[in-house]
Amino acid sequence: MMNQKKKILLLTTGGTIASLSSSEGLVPGLNGSGLASHLSGITDNYDISVKDILHLDSSNIQPEEWVIIAGHIHENYKQFDGIVITHGTDTMAYTASVLTFILQNIPIPVVITGSQLPLAHPLTDAVDNLRYAFAMASSGIGGIYLAFNRKIILGCRAVKIRTTGFDAFESVNYPYIATIDSTGLNINHPAIPEKTGEPMYLNKLCSDVFLIKLTPGLNPKIFDMLVGLNYKGIVIEAFGAGGLHFIHRDLISKLEKVIERGIPIVISSQCLYERSDLSIYQTGQLALKQGVIQAYDMTTEAAVTKLIWALGQTSNLSHIREIFATSYAGEITI
Ligand code: ASP
Repeated sequence: MMNQKKKILLLTTGGTIASLSSSEGLVPGLNGSGLASHLSGITDNYDISVKDILHLDSSNIQPEEWVIIAGHIHENYKQFDGIVITHGTDTMAYTASVLTFILQNIPIPVVITGSQLPLAHPLTDAVDNLRYAFAMASSGIGGIYLAFNRKIILGCRAVKIRTTGFDAFESVNYPYIATIDSTGLNINHPAIPEKTGEPMYLNKLCSDVFLIKLTPGLNPKIFDMLVGLNYKGIVIEAFGAGGLHFIHRDLISKLEKVIERGIPIVISSQCLYERSDLSIYQTGQLALKQGVIQAYDMTTEAAVTKLIWALGQTSNLSHIREIFATSYAGEITI
């Protein structure tokens, strides 16, 4: 008996993959059926339904759009074996991370992909990336993933590391979920995070989160401005394992005042690889004493979107601390 083709939903959101040239540069112009017309080798192998949900360069994809994308996944996931989302590469890692928190324990694979060259370009990487995304989407392994350049990355561990190279994404501080070679899709089963319970759909977000990269000599008064602008949460990319300056300009006592107002401050590292740990140096320990939250080995994209999501669920500081001390889908090594 012939294997039944897997039912895959293709959601399109724009990005380079769907872009066409215009007098103002590349703009997302191809719709879903335009995309599908380039994919004969793929469409033969799956039972594909296409839905255009957005037509945006991903620089314009923000929390409002994350909620729209998550809503389409939530409405449809019970009818499909898997979902593929085409998306611009520039903010793809943020979208992949936030979907991880909104749609915890999703039982089907949801795979985001895009390309560095438009689908219509003769040298495009789009067709291959779509092949990898469809292969993962039909794997039966639930979760949010990103497919790019022969690799499948856990959504909340993906980082865009190149502006033009085809090897644009990396899995940071986490093994690849799968690689593709002449033996096919090789899934690294031990790397698949265990489900923590029933599928959830928690789509409330708070976009008032500010990410600041520490530079030597940064004026602590910047934090007064952020409070004045009504930011509800702050992520700081600190130095190395998590250091912050306190001589000449005392960031530590300023952070204490911000936290006293109930505003969570999450500290991550400017280093892309390995974990931050504020307990190592005095410059970190002093900040810990004021109540900052550690991001440990999370990517910046995951730390920012986790805070956006956490503040959508609660404004209670101790609850937010608990959320950051929990791994929902492999985003942090506790
Ligand atoms: N600017 C594009 C976007 O993110 C880049 C891409 O898709 O590769 O939408």
